[in-house]
Amino acid sequence: MEELGSAVELLRRRVEAAEKELADLKTQLAQAEKDAQDAKRKQTSNGTWKWPLQAQEYERYGRQMILPGFGVEGQLKLKNSRVLIVGAGGLGCPAAAYLAGAGVGTLGIVDGDTVEASNLHRQIAHATSRIGATKAQSLSRYLYDLNPLVEYKLYEEHLTPQNAQDIVSQYDLVLDCTDNPATRYLISDICVLLGKPLVSASALRTDGQLIVLNCPPAPQGAKGGPCYRCVFPRPPPAASILSCGEGGVLGPAVGTMGVLQAGEAIKIIVRGHHVQGDFPSESIPPPSLLLFSTPLSGPPSLRTVRMRSRRTDCFACSASSNLTLENMSDGSVMDYVQFCGGAPSPDTTLLADERISASEYATRLAGVSKDHFLLDVREPEHFAIASLDGAVNVPFSKWEHATKVSEDGVAIRPDWFPPTLPEDAPIYVVCRVGNDSQLATRRLKDMGLDCDGKRFIGDIRGGMRAWKEEVDKTMPFT
Ligand SMILES: [Zn+2]
Repeated sequence: MEELGSAVELLRRRVEAAEKELADLKTQLAQAEKDAQDAKRKQTSNGTWKWPLQAQEYERYGRQMILPGFGVEGQLKLKNSRVLIVGAGGLGCPAAAYLAGAGVGTLGIVDGDTVEASNLHRQIAHATSRIGATKAQSLSRYLYDLNPLVEYKLYEEHLTPQNAQDIVSQYDLVLDCTDNPATRYLISDICVLLGKPLVSASALRTDGQLIVLNCPPAPQGAKGGPCYRCVFPRPPPAASILSCGEGGVLGPAVGTMGVLQAGEAIKIIVRGHHVQGDFPSESIPPPSLLLFSTPLSGPPSLRTVRMRSRRTDCFACSASSNLTLENMSDGSVMDYVQFCGGAPSPDTTLLADERISASEYATRLAGVSKDHFLLDVREPEHFAIASLDGAVNVPFSKWEHATKVSEDGVAIRPDWFPPTLPEDAPIYVVCRVGNDSQLATRRLKDMGLDCDGKRFIGDIRGGMRAWKEEVDKTMPFT
C-alpha cells in the first residue's frame, strides 16, 4: 500500500513537471512568434523587403508566374483585381476555385440559393456536410481553405435590377455563371452600363458555350466588344428553356465551361483588358463563341465561331440605346422576366376542376388502368427511373408540334392513342412537376379528344414531385 502511494506521488510530480515545461514552451513560442512578426514588420518598414510580392506569394504562384507573358506584372494585376462571380453552381464552383487559386485580390460571390444533394454531382466545391447552407457560404468555405490570401465577399441573394449597380460597380470583371435567360440579359446590361468585361458561359446536357463580352469595355455607342444582346438580340422561346433539373446535365461538361471561364478571366486581367482604355487593336482577340460538346456516344469536340462586333442597333450598347442605370433599376424600359417570356409554363393554365391531386388519384384510380388512360408526358429518361403503375409514356416534346388541332369537332387520334379507349373513359396526364401536364391537357382538348365533353381530361396537380410528397416517399424523383 505504501509502495503504491509513493508511485502515485511520483507520477503526480512528473505530470506537474511536464505541465510546467509545456507552459514554459508555450510562453517561449508566443514570444518567438511575436519576435518573428516584429522582425518582418521592421524589415518591411525599413524597406529591406525589396520584392513586390510577399514570400508566400512567390511560393504559391511561382508556377504560373514563370509562364511566358505572365510574370510578376501579371500576378500583381491579378492581386489588384476584383472579380465577381454570379451563380455559385456548376459553372461558378470551378470558375471560383481557379480564380481563387490563381490569386485574384477580391472575389465576390452572388447566389441566393442553398446547397441541395442534387447539386453535388457537378457543383464540386460544395459538400455533403453543407447541404442546406447557402451556396455563397458553402463555396467561400471551400475557397478559403484553398487560398486564404484572397478576400471573399458574399452576397446571399439573387442579382436583381435593383441591387445590380451596387454590387457590380465594386468589381473589375464579371463572370456570368447563372442558368436563366432573364439574369443573363440583366448581367450583360449592367456590365455595359458600368463598363465591365463579362465572361459568359452556359451548359446543358452534354454541351456548353462560352463567350467573352464587352471586352475591352467601352461606353454605349463607342467601339468595344459586343454585349450579350448583340449576340442574342432575342431570348429563346420560354417553352424551349430547360433547366438542369429538367434537361439533365453532365457534371464534367458544365465543369469544363466553368474552368474555361476562369481561364478567360485570368487572361483578360493579365493582359490588362479589364480596364477601359485605348488598346492596340492587334492585342484584342476578336469576339468568338466557343462551342463545346461531349456526347455520351462519342469523343468531345471544341469549335470556335467568329462573332461580329457591336450591333449598331443594339438595345443596350449602341449609340441609340435608351438604357440607363436609373431606368434599369426602376424597370421602366425593361422587364427582364417579361422580356424572356415570363415565368415558363405558369401553373394557372388549367382550371381547378380540370385537375386532380396526387393523393386523390392514388386513392381513387391508381392501378385501375383499364377504366382510364394515364399519360406520362415526361422524357423517357425520367420515365425510366420511376413511373406510376399503368402509365404510358409519350413525351410532350414528341407530339406537341406533331399533332393538329381539330377544326371540325372530329377528334384527331395520334397513333399512340389507345384505339379501344371508350369515349367516356377519362384521361389523366402527369409530368414532372405539373407544368407540361397542363399544356398537354389543353392540347388533347384542342385535338377534340374530350369528345364534346363526354370524356374528362385533366392532369395530376404537381406531377411526380407531388406524388412523391403525398403518396410514395420512397419514389426516386429526378
Ligand atoms: Zn450590344
